[in-house]
Amino acid sequence: MKHPYYTMNQLMHEHYGQKLRKICVDGGFTCPNRDGTCGYGGCTFCGERGAGEQLDPDKSIREQVSAKLAQAAPDSKWIVYFQNFTNTYAPVDVLRSRYDAALIDERIKVLDIGTRPDCIDENTAALLAEYAKRYEVWVELGLQTANDATARAIHRGYDLACFSRAVEILHRRGLPVIVHIIIGLPHETLADIRRTIDVLNAHKVAGIKIHSLFVMRGTQLAQQYENGEFTPITMNEYIDWTIDALCRIAPETVIHRLTGNCLRDLLLAPDWIPQRDLILVTIDRRMAANGWTQGCMYRSVPHETIETE
Ligand code: SF4
Repeated sequence: MKHPYYTMNQLMHEHYGQKLRKICVDGGFTCPNRDGTCGYGGCTFCGERGAGEQLDPDKSIREQVSAKLAQAAPDSKWIVYFQNFTNTYAPVDVLRSRYDAALIDERIKVLDIGTRPDCIDENTAALLAEYAKRYEVWVELGLQTANDATARAIHRGYDLACFSRAVEILHRRGLPVIVHIIIGLPHETLADIRRTIDVLNAHKVAGIKIHSLFVMRGTQLAQQYENGEFTPITMNEYIDWTIDALCRIAPETVIHRLTGNCLRDLLLAPDWIPQRDLILVTIDRRMAANGWTQGCMYRSVPHETIETE
């Protein structure tokens, strides 16, 4: 089905003539926002497993990858995604050995690294650029919001200027950047989301993952929710705000995802999070009914005009 936005599947068909499947890997990393280097406890919404609740930390990297590929068709193509915690948070030789442990089959075409901007420097970018000679390399940065006040409230541990520096380092090496944002962060308004999109457009990021905020049991956010410190947005608000964002995202930016995903046992609120298909279909239908497509309200914002605190 054709969506009114530029999907990752579309990109994969353009690059490889087929859909690529993803192997999510626990690379055995931690996060500087948890181990005390930058903070303790992590971002308020982050669970104990750093966004990799479904992964098995007891399996080696090689075992995780080979288990997926064992039954895979010979002509299938794959993305290896280092998903949870901060996958550039180690010396370069450690990073190299962990990435190499995953790149064990010629059907793997994309090395996809999830990390934080404060864990990107010239050395990590140079290492990733080496891999980019043999693989398509994507770097995923968790920004969540361009609003530094919200960033402090969610204990993100770095500011927008840090994000800008990381994107610049990666772009200088020709590495595409995919940015995670969250719609529905406590006390954020549609104006905040629009500014975040302006910032991402100005940085010319290659892709965006839009997540709906959910409250996971055991997190700091769960405590705030239970104390009545914030109310999650409704599904309808999420759909409307996501459509508004899509209409403003540059048309060439790839949309890698549009919903959040939480294991049911861990989900505290809101109760509409598991209705992923309904959310996606409603976004498509509402956009089609109004003649809206990705970027139909795009405005170019020069990088110099993006204010940081
Ligand atoms: S940076 Fe990522 S892994 Fe680290 S605390 Fe925040 S969400 Fe969790």
